[in-house]
Amino acid sequence: MDRKAVNILVSTIEKLQKENVGSWWKTYMNYINEEDFIYAKKHLTMFDPIKLSHNEIFKRINKAIEKIDKQNVVNAFLYSLSTRKLEYRSFLSSYCIGKVTPDHNFISSPKINDYTCSICGLSEYECKEEMEFNSINFFKYKHGSCFDSPVQILFDLEHFQNMPLVTPVEEDFEILDNIKKIIETSEPKDRISQLKKRIRPVIKSNDIEREGVLEILGVCDILHDDIHFGYADNYVIYSERTQRPIHFDEIGYPARWWQGKFGVDNEKWEYWFGQ
Ligand SMILES: [Zn+2]
Repeated sequence: MDRKAVNILVSTIEKLQKENVGSWWKTYMNYINEEDFIYAKKHLTMFDPIKLSHNEIFKRINKAIEKIDKQNVVNAFLYSLSTRKLEYRSFLSSYCIGKVTPDHNFISSPKINDYTCSICGLSEYECKEEMEFNSINFFKYKHGSCFDSPVQILFDLEHFQNMPLVTPVEEDFEILDNIKKIIETSEPKDRISQLKKRIRPVIKSNDIEREGVLEILGVCDILHDDIHFGYADNYVIYSERTQRPIHFDEIGYPARWWQGKFGVDNEKWEYWFGQ
């Protein structure tokens, strides 16, 4: 990807975040000049907003999935480990979710959340307005974030076609093996907050990036407890992606439910990373 184009996207939003500009995801376009936006669009790091209905999103997700080979998204995730090219990371979890995402009509959640689809979590408001993908791409480049909302999944799966295919090297597999060993030697009551500190020595990363890696392993059904599973076998409907009964838990579903005593789901590890 073109460095200048990435910089137009990342530095603009980063600056607004640092200056604490409220709702930057709605206003960032005011801080980018037309010429830069055209440049970033040409190099596929920024995109025009589009309007999509609830059902169109799922038709497009299913269409995008058909074009993706599982090994290519696994390779992208692995490649991101040693290179720290974070934008390659979330294709794996997005593919895992996209593969089992049902084509469905909007079904209202129980009141007072009846504006939200009980299957996918999309709100009626999101479908009425134009959808923008640039903040999603920002989170990919900046943090290697793990996604689970339909618009994020759609963007990631369609955007995968824009990215060159990559191949992991020996070092990526070493990092992966080391992460596995560390998960397996966790204390029974350890959670993601302990685990992300323990994997620090084996992967060049900051705290948010490590959290993203572990959340991706959660979505892929590798880190879970015995009630809350990831998406490898079945789509997890919105109402089942439950929070833990604590005040503030930033960790995504289902990694937030994992504890050391549950270790690694070896069957799923093999499914994704087996040679
Ligand atoms: Zn829905």
